[in-house]
Amino acid sequence: MTDNPKHPETLALHAGYRKDSATNAVAVPIYQTTSYQFDHTEHAANLFALKELGNIYTRIMNPTCAVLEERITALEGGAAALAVSSGQAASAIAIQNIAQAGDNVVSSTDLYGGTWNLFANTFRTMGIEVRFVDPTDPEAFRKATDERTRAYYAETLPNPKLQVFPIREVADIGEELGVPLIVDNTAAPVLCRPFDHGAHVIVYSTTKYIGGHGTSIGGLIVDSGRFDWEKHAERFPLLNRPDPSYHGAVWTKDTKALGPIAYILKARVTLQRDLGYALSPFNAFLFIQGLETLPLRIREHCRNARAVADFLARHEAVERVIYPSVFDGEQKRRAETYLTGGGFGGLVGFELKGGKEAGRRFIDGLALFYHVANIGDARSLAIHPATTTHSQLTPDEQLATGVTDGYVRLSIGIEHIDDILADLERGLAAAGGVARAAE
Ligand code: PLP
Repeated sequence: MTDNPKHPETLALHAGYRKDSATNAVAVPIYQTTSYQFDHTEHAANLFALKELGNIYTRIMNPTCAVLEERITALEGGAAALAVSSGQAASAIAIQNIAQAGDNVVSSTDLYGGTWNLFANTFRTMGIEVRFVDPTDPEAFRKATDERTRAYYAETLPNPKLQVFPIREVADIGEELGVPLIVDNTAAPVLCRPFDHGAHVIVYSTTKYIGGHGTSIGGLIVDSGRFDWEKHAERFPLLNRPDPSYHGAVWTKDTKALGPIAYILKARVTLQRDLGYALSPFNAFLFIQGLETLPLRIREHCRNARAVADFLARHEAVERVIYPSVFDGEQKRRAETYLTGGGFGGLVGFELKGGKEAGRRFIDGLALFYHVANIGDARSLAIHPATTTHSQLTPDEQLATGVTDGYVRLSIGIEHIDDILADLERGLAAAGGVARAAE
């Protein structure tokens, strides 16, 4: 191993931990404890005053969670991270850390449904307005910005459209106007390193590819340390004015000696302290196990997904395939610019010729694929959004999100490709009668 390993395969196994300081254990121990003995009263006072960093209480920090945080920080090339109890908690905290009632956020329309709900409804009740803009035009972010805009928000590889977000274009607008770009990289870990393209904060649902085995719910927020919060002090009072919740700390100034971690440290010691979205050490352990094989698994997900996209594109029951490898023009350019880590991801969409009925029959015809509302499992998963996740929306709303009656979303796993294709053939044969009738 070199002194400074840069490759994701190596970082995923080594970053942030060598051995347990007490026992020399090589696997990361599960520190299943709520609290930590202070050495003496001065030690305790220093920890609370942030004069030194250390463990106080597991709602705020934990050594197992810390390894996960350091490892993802190394993989993303960031400054520091915070582990939280879900992907939803990660996106909520990432924004609440810098936005309050009266502020607004400009977000891409192409979002996970849960994030959409958080933004459109729950944040609204808290007085935070989210302005949704179409990411096909990056300039839409500029147009929606005003002096109360606190962040831009987007997903790297949003489903169902699977059109890669123009990270550099929008990050540059943010740099110009003093607005940080927060990117949800859940569907493209390893494949995309959003900080390399100018993003300022990354959020993850670790529930998906990072965990990789469908066992646990969790989230991460990673701070690049590269946004200049002080330069834009007027826009970010929560980081630049005395914080009454922490004996008047001014986060940008009082954390300087600790590195460029004002944003993530504030999130930890105020929001995580107050709202309590703590990740359990046991789940952190499971995510560390997942992370260790993530680069390997992602390669297989991508390889299988590409083969599935090719297979579907040739199939008579299929109207259209949605996968970055089949796009052209600007969408192809974006996929090739931002997904540089070895493939276009494990998610594949397609439209069946026979609409809703064909979708239903396809799903019921599968034997290997699981029919679940999830992505990023090592197993292959399928869902027909028009009759499930998107069934509450009007047909027009469904279309706006990229869902048609015959649309099917696949999350391709790491089984043998022949078995995956055989199962898809089974589903397509079941749907095929309807497809032929529709022709
Ligand atoms: N972001 C994306 C892209 C997701 O797909 C999901 C969940 O499906 C989330 C965030 C929310 O994550 P969690 O279910 O861990 O709260």
